[in-house]
Amino acid sequence: MLHFDNFDFKHQKVLVRVDFNVPLNDKMEISDDTRIMGAVPTINKILKDGGSVVLMSHLGRPKEGPVDKYSLSHLLPRLKELFGNDKVFFANDCISEDAFKKSSTLGAGEILLLENLRFYKEEEKGDKSFAEKLSHHGNIYINDAFGTAHRAHASTSIIAEFFTSEKKGFGYLMNAEIENAEFVLHKAVKPVTAIVGGAKVSDKIQLLERLIDIMDNILIGGGMAYTFIAAQGGKIGTSLCEPDFKELALKIMEKAKNQNTKIYLPVDSLAANRFAADAEILSVNSNEIPDGWMGLDIGPLAIEEYSTVVKSSKTILWNGPMGVFEFPAFSKGTFSIASSVADATSNGAFSLIGGGDSVSAIHQSGLSSKVSYISTGGGAMLEFLEGKELPGIKAIKE
Ligand code: AMP
Repeated sequence: MLHFDNFDFKHQKVLVRVDFNVPLNDKMEISDDTRIMGAVPTINKILKDGGSVVLMSHLGRPKEGPVDKYSLSHLLPRLKELFGNDKVFFANDCISEDAFKKSSTLGAGEILLLENLRFYKEEEKGDKSFAEKLSHHGNIYINDAFGTAHRAHASTSIIAEFFTSEKKGFGYLMNAEIENAEFVLHKAVKPVTAIVGGAKVSDKIQLLERLIDIMDNILIGGGMAYTFIAAQGGKIGTSLCEPDFKELALKIMEKAKNQNTKIYLPVDSLAANRFAADAEILSVNSNEIPDGWMGLDIGPLAIEEYSTVVKSSKTILWNGPMGVFEFPAFSKGTFSIASSVADATSNGAFSLIGGGDSVSAIHQSGLSSKVSYISTGGGAMLEFLEGKELPGIKAIKE
């Protein structure tokens, strides 16, 4: 498989799967163009080489065929701004006769954006003949959509069968995601620390099991911490708890102990008397939360302990918030951790913000430029870190 830099795209028609699943406001304007900007270096390299680009993506979750709300045509003004008004074209159906006419007559330096792939059910079903039709839009296939790499969809995985190994590859974004995650998993400088938070233990079990083999420290926060605390006999009031996972939580603690991986649970919490932004707040030990109260953030002692561990680490992986950071009163744990990760990074540590809500937290904290790498793929990054082989990656490597 060729590295993206080693492709020469001169006179080539390059079909690029991008992740342009951007948020749109009610005027159908893009409210955050991070995903578009993420694909720009890949598109520019193809254009600079003298090739032409056919872009395909999904947008949202259309249920039954075409709907204006999910039309990729809403992205055209931004793409024209980026690449030139007379250089960007649109096909209002990804496999129509008109779409193929447009892609076949596309000139060097020009871009054709195809309409939302998910207007066809065949996309998510991974339909082979739909994938084959799409493949006729280009003679080279580049996958730069890390955010959907964990799905075996027609355009992300099945389509790769129709290109020989020297005619397919990853774009810059996909390469960066893979390289940064592999660095943390296989080449990390010690001490290595993972910060794992979020709502449920059940969502993060596989991640934790894998991280025990890799990490020196695992700092647990968010709702998932309370299942661990309850499993150890703590009183957690009405905090989030998954009783069916208590036994597994204890096994994870035991496994970590045997492998010299230190698991930290928050010694204290900020508890609320109801799940609301303006709830009453109580600062308590995490294993002594009174009946009727729920832990919604890690407390000041835990913040201090976690920050010390983070700042003494050389490699840091962060996945999941420390509390209900959407409520300002319970956001301090998450934002303090964001700032410790930024401090550690400025002192030479490598930090990877590995998807999901920790990504929005780092953006909200204004510290995005102070960490080493922010992943663009929530579910995809989680599965990659868990050690799963992602269909979008496997299909290119085969
Ligand atoms: P996840 O998608 O699993 O990473 O979880 C993110 C969500 O977990 C966010 O919406 C947080 O509000 C929520 N969360 C974090 N800590 C808690 C907590 N202590 N109790 C309830 N929800 C939480």
